[in-house]
Amino acid sequence: MTLPSSSYDVLFQPLRIGPKIAPNRFYQVPHCNGMGRQYPSSMARMRGIKAEGGWGVVCTEICDIHWTSDMTREVRLWDDRDIPYLARMVDAVHEHGALAGIELAHMGYSGRNLYSREPALSPSGQVGPTLYPGYARAMDKQDIRDLRRWHRKAALRAKEAGYDCIVVYASHSLSLAMHFLCARHNQRADEYGGSMENRARLLRELIEDTKEAVGDTCGVVVRLAVEELLGPNGITAAEEGKDILSFLAELPDLWDINCSSWENDSITARFADEGFQEPYFSFVKSVTSKPVVGVGRYTSPDRMASLVRKGVLDMIGAARPSIADPFLPEKVRQGRIDEIRECIGCNICVAYSNSGVPMRCTQNPTAGEEWRRGWHPEYIRPKESNERILVVGGGPAGLEAAMWLGKRGYEVLLAEASGVLGGRVARESRLPGLASWGRVRDYRSYQISQMANVQVYLESRLVADDVLEMDVSRVAIATGGLWRRDGIGRGRFSPLPGHERAQVFTPDDIMAGAELSGPVAIYDTDHYYMGGVIAEALRARGLEVTLITPAATVSAFTELNLEHDRIQKRLYGAGVNLMPHHTLELIGPDHVSLRHVHAGTALPLEAASVVLVTTPVPNDHLWRALRLRQDEWEGAGIRDISRIGDCWNPNTIAQAVWGGHRYARTLGAPETENDEVPFRREILELSNDF
Ligand code: ADP
Ligand code: SF4
Repeated sequence: MTLPSSSYDVLFQPLRIGPKIAPNRFYQVPHCNGMGRQYPSSMARMRGIKAEGGWGVVCTEICDIHWTSDMTREVRLWDDRDIPYLARMVDAVHEHGALAGIELAHMGYSGRNLYSREPALSPSGQVGPTLYPGYARAMDKQDIRDLRRWHRKAALRAKEAGYDCIVVYASHSLSLAMHFLCARHNQRADEYGGSMENRARLLRELIEDTKEAVGDTCGVVVRLAVEELLGPNGITAAEEGKDILSFLAELPDLWDINCSSWENDSITARFADEGFQEPYFSFVKSVTSKPVVGVGRYTSPDRMASLVRKGVLDMIGAARPSIADPFLPEKVRQGRIDEIRECIGCNICVAYSNSGVPMRCTQNPTAGEEWRRGWHPEYIRPKESNERILVVGGGPAGLEAAMWLGKRGYEVLLAEASGVLGGRVARESRLPGLASWGRVRDYRSYQISQMANVQVYLESRLVADDVLEMDVSRVAIATGGLWRRDGIGRGRFSPLPGHERAQVFTPDDIMAGAELSGPVAIYDTDHYYMGGVIAEALRARGLEVTLITPAATVSAFTELNLEHDRIQKRLYGAGVNLMPHHTLELIGPDHVSLRHVHAGTALPLEAASVVLVTTPVPNDHLWRALRLRQDEWEGAGIRDISRIGDCWNPNTIAQAVWGGHRYARTLGAPETENDEVPFRREILELSNDF
């Protein structure tokens, strides 16, 4: 149901945060982005676009306050030299009337300190959560005094940079303030350990110090985890989370509440729905008179308005929904609800920011490209000619290309072989836990349905003759990819013996509804979600399933997008037999032969069916047929035929969308000439002091 736009008025009331006034109730909580200090112009432009899109408060990611807290790729306020690039972000946010927030953090033993080489700090000398050798140093009283001084100096520098809101960070099990709060981290015998009041002392002091230093001009926000989902081993909203909050209730100007760790705060859609944190933050307003922000991957304005109207939250916090649609608030304000580009909860953004490169987003291909390529999530330059463009294939790449070409004003023909749009997202969204993948199709097909200049032809499998007869001048081939049947993939360069047997299937077969008999052996060298979800799907059919992979764990890539542990738990829980560290060597009539990757031992396994989840290859028959007839293109009026998406290079859905977007964005204006780098680069100045 979509309410009339006046029903959302409650989301557009200003709100006081200490001495500052937020223009509305949309709060972009701090989030990593892989740009930070390394690519500061990219980071600043990305934040500025969020403000332009209507987010009333726009925060940085974690900002390390001192070189004993060295996250390496986030922003820093180690000294005054960090102020200018942060001020650039502030200016970009202020330009659109939003408030700029900064999340001051000392990461304690969660900071790896790989660059600074300083020993990590912790309340009682625990082991840090990373794999790097080296153990944290227990802080003495002087360390605590130092920490308070560093925090205060960082707050003053943040004020100088122009920030409106200073966030004191005690969440995600990542910051020293939270390490002190948690009894399992904090085993001190002094006044900073023991009782809840003692463990909260440091956080209280940091809030008071910040208030005293900058509270005259800046709102002081506390970002607090009230629930760790660890039961009695951690902070729970029902008990200690509530106690801590009640103890500090009136100190900050705003509470930003969430669950810890990051894996729990940013659960993927495969494991939690919109609003999953409500049971944990719903008590907060009953113990404080201060305004409260909460998160839960909210993309429904009805739900957001209801939370504010009912007095559960004062502001709607969002990281991922603001990445997927930086203009979400503005669309709500204008009543353009159907145009919201809803986050699908895949955490590709997290995976790539964790890889130390500009984040990317499945739904928003302009994420990370705002400054370096000048891409805007809502605007694109108009067409430069009256050409008719044919897009072949209605998957993510074809839909994205057709949509943006349509927005540019071109006449677009979109031909899709099947009876539905969506390509791989239409198929994959039927797999367990992946229903939200369908949003990639829904957003684009709705947009396209509103454009008179984009014609969609379903049930239209084109061959080369069709394309050459269509009276178009440019063609984008977006015919996708297909999973290999021969077992070639990571670690295997020749076909797998036995792959031609009838009981061998691919993910495409499973998604097309193939009937299998058990027991089933799934061999996964893709390492992302597909092997795991196929195992879940087949197990749900009651089949005995073994998931085999040469990696140390199944779905190893998902270490980066935070869902790895939940995947293992779900598969074990479903009764899938997991066999890491094994390669598949041969497929026999009723068994497979495995080999342990380290021990070299051979192992037979009974298998009536085998599913090979190795690698996809481009489905480029049409492209190859057309290329063979290149001498006919000119006569047919065709200037160019390009491949986009998985047909060009099988990859994530995010990459297919990005490829479709790039095609539409650059049509008529090539990105590069003379081998130039196709985007702006941020290159550090060489020091004169050498
Ligand atoms: P991508 O991720 O690159 O968008 P998909 O595999 O999701 O790729 O989508 C490709 C789409 O192209 C599928 O919906 C498929 O039905 C369609 N397709 C494949 N070959 C043809 C063809 N010859 N003519 C029209 N559509 C095609
Ligand atoms: Fe949402 Fe996925 Fe985009 Fe992240 S990458 S913002 S989870 S759609």
